[in-house]
Amino acid sequence: MQVADRLRLMAVHAHPDDESSKGAATMAKYVDEGHDVLVVSCTGGERGDILNPKLVDDIHILRDLPRVRREEMARAQAILGVQHTWLGFVDSGLPEGDPLPPLPDGCFALEPLDVTTEALVREVRRFRPHVMTTYDENGGYPHPDHIMCHTVSMAAFAAAGDPAAYPHAGEPWQPLKIYYNQTFSRERIVAFHEALTALEEESPYAEWLEHWQDRTPRTVTTSIHCADYYDRRDQALLAHATQIDPDGTFFRVPREVQQRVWPTEEYEAALSYVPVVPIEDDLFAGLGDVASADALATKAGLELAYDGRKDPA
Ligand SMILES: [Zn+2]
Repeated sequence: MQVADRLRLMAVHAHPDDESSKGAATMAKYVDEGHDVLVVSCTGGERGDILNPKLVDDIHILRDLPRVRREEMARAQAILGVQHTWLGFVDSGLPEGDPLPPLPDGCFALEPLDVTTEALVREVRRFRPHVMTTYDENGGYPHPDHIMCHTVSMAAFAAAGDPAAYPHAGEPWQPLKIYYNQTFSRERIVAFHEALTALEEESPYAEWLEHWQDRTPRTVTTSIHCADYYDRRDQALLAHATQIDPDGTFFRVPREVQQRVWPTEEYEAALSYVPVVPIEDDLFAGLGDVASADALATKAGLELAYDGRKDPA
């Protein structure tokens, strides 16, 4: 594939490590196919805990976790082959307790939306993605940074093509589609649970499934076959050594089993300027070649062709 044929995908994530647990195999696949993929991390993950029991007392890490997380992110980036940029906001932390404590001053979730949106609009206008991915309106899980990642992504998608919006943040560019990551579904966990049970292996998911709380049903519009990239996904996730227990649930299902029973990563189209015809097998479906996608992304007066949002504004 020639450079001129590269389509561009921007994946917006809340913290370093989210890119490796949500859509990582899809990104590695697109990189291998010759497309340009940019991961945007909204925050530096400064308020994360050390989740790997083998590293909790590591003095080198405790002294400067933000630096360690930047180094981990650089390793994951190299493994996935993606480009990466920090949006530069500060992790809000996951409030715990009853009542919940207030969010810390100056954190990402408390920044004025205009400020965070302009920062992402500037990245959109620089990288010029044809397609963006983010989280759904619930954040995928209720971390304030994940919910804000959704809000800022949708605001930037709406503003980036508008010449009147953020005029000092670059030339207008309208990404043509934005999707929500839907990698974590009940169906996928059930498939793993049943596969392990059939193999007479202990399943770590029985209790999890018992306590599964019903969520808004999601509309999967797009399913990317990427089982050949699960190895790269796992290596990238392990590169975030402070954030993942290598003996934890995530790695309990043997890779061959995952490749057999769930060889895909799922997405939900939220907004699109080209028709969305489920089930798609490509995030770039319907865009044509780079020249026609570029022309569409800079055309005035575009009309939405698809609105799959659960909370239309
Ligand atoms: Zn996160």
